[in-house]
Amino acid sequence: MDDLERLAADIRRADTVVAFTGAGISAPSGVPTFRGDDGVWEHFDEGQFTYGRFQRDPAGFWTDRLELQRVMFDGEFEPNPAHEALAAMGADGHLKAILTQNTDGLHVDAADASGTNETTLLELHGNARRVRCPDCGRCTDGDPVFERAADGDIPPTCECGGVYKPDVVLFGEQLPGAVIQRARALARESDVFLAIGSSLVVEPAASLPRLAASPETTVGIINLESTPVDSTADIVYREDVTTVLPRLRDVLEA
Ligand SMILES: [Zn+2]
Repeated sequence: MDDLERLAADIRRADTVVAFTGAGISAPSGVPTFRGDDGVWEHFDEGQFTYGRFQRDPAGFWTDRLELQRVMFDGEFEPNPAHEALAAMGADGHLKAILTQNTDGLHVDAADASGTNETTLLELHGNARRVRCPDCGRCTDGDPVFERAADGDIPPTCECGGVYKPDVVLFGEQLPGAVIQRARALARESDVFLAIGSSLVVEPAASLPRLAASPETTVGIINLESTPVDSTADIVYREDVTTVLPRLRDVLEA
């Protein structure tokens, strides 16, 4: 039995399988990464995108945010075979939850395309394709609001008069507490915890695999580079997520 067959056997036996995903699952779809060489913050000053600036200078914040979206996130991104494999595992009842650091919404697209899907999706840092009104809590599709802003309606406001904010966690803003608590509870509850395309360095990514780890839990890591959790994980694949996850799905199907 090879590692993948062992992992598939653990997944079949498990009550709770949780996948945690980071930027590495979206990079093959062409989504720019924020950190590292040629990352978004090499081209833009991250100090201009803080929650403090949004509050102090919403018009300036929105002008810069539109420029960032135009330059870095122009065009449509599609889910890749790794997103699709996770969605298929969810549709087959093999995946209880996906916890993601990504704000690109590609897990939502992949789940929609797979039809029935009961997998819980927790977007820990929000979803950049939505906007939220901090005053009344209204949350809505971002496209019409981005278009309004691009036409000069800056900063774009909600019907209640509040200024819309991209529905993502900005620098200087707390991660939503209830979402993080649910993510931690799912990690603790998991029988199989898969960390996918994340360097597992920054919080909360760093602590989730440790919360999951117990003698009864299988912790698997799939990432191109090594992570601080590799030495304590049960299975480590230093391979491309778009090859490993479809293979895992095939083994589960077999
Ligand atoms: Zn409002």
